[in-house]
Amino acid sequence: MKIQEADAKSLLLAQGLPVPAWEVVRSAPEARAAAERAFAAGASLVVVKAQVLVGGRGKAGGVKVAADAGAAEAAAKAILALEIKGIPVRKLLVGPAADIAREYYLGAILDRVSRRIVVMASAEGGVEIEEVAKVNPGAIHRLEAHPHLGLLDWQARQLAFAVGLGGPHLRDFVQVAKGLVATMLANDADLVEVNPLAIVRETAADGSPVERLACLDAKITLDDSALFRHPALEALRDLDEEDPVDRQARDEGINFIKLDGSIGCMVNGAGLAMTTMDLVKRAGGEPANFLDIGGGARADKVAAAMRLILADPQVTAILVNIFGGITRGDEVARGLIEARAVQARDVPMVVRIVGTNAEEAAALLEANHFATASSLDDAAAKAVAAAGAAARTGPLTNPAADR
Ligand code: GDP
Ligand code: MN
Repeated sequence: MKIQEADAKSLLLAQGLPVPAWEVVRSAPEARAAAERAFAAGASLVVVKAQVLVGGRGKAGGVKVAADAGAAEAAAKAILALEIKGIPVRKLLVGPAADIAREYYLGAILDRVSRRIVVMASAEGGVEIEEVAKVNPGAIHRLEAHPHLGLLDWQARQLAFAVGLGGPHLRDFVQVAKGLVATMLANDADLVEVNPLAIVRETAADGSPVERLACLDAKITLDDSALFRHPALEALRDLDEEDPVDRQARDEGINFIKLDGSIGCMVNGAGLAMTTMDLVKRAGGEPANFLDIGGGARADKVAAAMRLILADPQVTAILVNIFGGITRGDEVARGLIEARAVQARDVPMVVRIVGTNAEEAAALLEANHFATASSLDDAAAKAVAAAGAAARTGPLTNPAADR
């Protein structure tokens, strides 16, 4: 689950990291009021930033610096009118603008290959790290945090030196780097990224100029599977930007991941779902999704799963593969019959149900003219053939559901 910059900054702040103040607003007049408060608190410039769950906001015109409240309101108005990478801007972050001397990249990711938290730093901050990785991979320095001890001071110092940070900034950098790993562990994140981590110029209480490090941007991705351990983080889910199909799946308790193929798969159990996808591929087809309806699913859940599959216009055939244990085959069959009666598109379906109440299921399916299969290989082959036939004749509509 991705969270917005402002929420990510709250999580960094909770670990004691240096983050400039901010407010989140939803309109230009609110932005003006927030800017006025920032100026009153001593800011000489304010920054107005689009809050959308994509990177590259700066390049898209979603980050603007303003010198007075009127300019902040105008900037807010302009940014709220934007769509960044297809996402309309609904919220803004407003706060004192930093006076940037230099930008760095610092990120921590869960690296599944090394099974470690990997911390990455680069002196080429501000630009998207994927771009640096392509153009100048040598400019990214990486090291693995210790699985039990976390990121050690000497490791953090090594990274600082690698990006040319030393002297007065060394201590700050060590604190921030260790803080990123701490943020990751505290929240079960799989990515915590600060880009830019900047050297900013400030004025000390006695009026003398000082430089320090500040986290000017923050991106955090939380591990969905660990969210149950952090009920408070669930509130950070941005429903404005969530894919409606993903939301439906979550509400129904269905484990659903959309893929690029044409064969919709409905399976009970994650392992069986993976196997089913493998067999679809072996039969020459491409799965349109991973879908696990879970154990003990009733008819209404089956119908909900069918709606999720059919919401994808690329689906031209459906393969249902159920191994009845706790799940009763006849319940699933009833769900399929119910779903087909109301579905908007008539997509060919191949059903294989074995295990608990398989005979009752077979009788129900036969009475309702469903295509069935005895083995999984047979089912996959039939679904792939049906998808191929559909691709040749074009999509069909279901007259019964055409209202
Ligand atoms: P992104 O483009 O989505 O990654 O958004 P960022 O928050 O990283 O902002 C993009 C760029 O805007 C940064 O690299 C900075 O150069 C600039 N920027 C962001 N915040 C400030 C700020 O407080 N002051 C100034 N002067 N520039 C900023
Ligand atoms: Mn950034």
